[in-house]
Amino acid sequence: MPVELQKQTILSPLMPKEERLCEHWWFGGWDRLVNCILAMAGRPTITTAPGDMAIDLHIHSMYSCCSISQPANLIRQAVRIGLGAIAVMDHDNIQGALNARIAAERLKSRGEIPPDFLVVPGVEVCSRAGHIGALFIEQNVSVNLSPAETVDEIHSRGGLAIAVHPYNSRGIGDAVLDVPFDAVEIECGSVFSNSVLSRNKSLAENNKVAALAKLGSSDAHYVRAVGSCYTVVHDIERPTLDGLKKALMAGNCTPESSLPHKRIACLLGKIKKLR
Ligand SMILES: [Zn+2]
Ligand SMILES: [Zn+2]
Repeated sequence: MPVELQKQTILSPLMPKEERLCEHWWFGGWDRLVNCILAMAGRPTITTAPGDMAIDLHIHSMYSCCSISQPANLIRQAVRIGLGAIAVMDHDNIQGALNARIAAERLKSRGEIPPDFLVVPGVEVCSRAGHIGALFIEQNVSVNLSPAETVDEIHSRGGLAIAVHPYNSRGIGDAVLDVPFDAVEIECGSVFSNSVLSRNKSLAENNKVAALAKLGSSDAHYVRAVGSCYTVVHDIERPTLDGLKKALMAGNCTPESSLPHKRIACLLGKIKKLR
């Protein structure tokens, strides 16, 4: 069946700003600058053992108000650095994920990416207490619910609920301990503060989240940030969405952060000390 792309995904990188969802006129220049800086920090090179798969399940596209990354470029970058799956998880908008899936099919049909590359549909939902990730879902999730209600709605649609960056950037904080999440982000590409890193480390060791999958994700708002942090899923039975979901539900995965991310974290730490 031929696939139809939404207008935005086939526009050139020079698309007029009124055709982006990002409302900030200056964001095109900022996007180029940040991508250049990230390129200087190096490209993550991700290698995995046979039977394992590296994935980045928290990426933003032009369907978030804070990113202009096109889904096809995110997928190309993910394949380039060695990821086997991504999830585009835009703010309160499933459209980016659905378009990423269509873009992946188009790239596969041209032979640009491997046929078994996976795109997990997802969305990052604003709950009353902060951001919550929803994966393996096909529709938007209601906003401004309590964390428990949000997670309940995600589960009722067959999705997995993720406590994204719980102690940073409007994360839900200690609600992660009281609500039945399926996974928690322990390594996050948008976290550079030592105090947040140590809170995440303590959280990973907390018995209340012992059964949850521990994820590493980039929270990339720029193409070059894809894979800055990532998850290695072990002994995945089948490289399919079902196989991946099953492995995550079993918690059979490890969060990782890449060398470029560590370099940037180290540099930002030094700049902070100088101030
Ligand atoms: Zn967030
Ligand atoms: Zn995010």
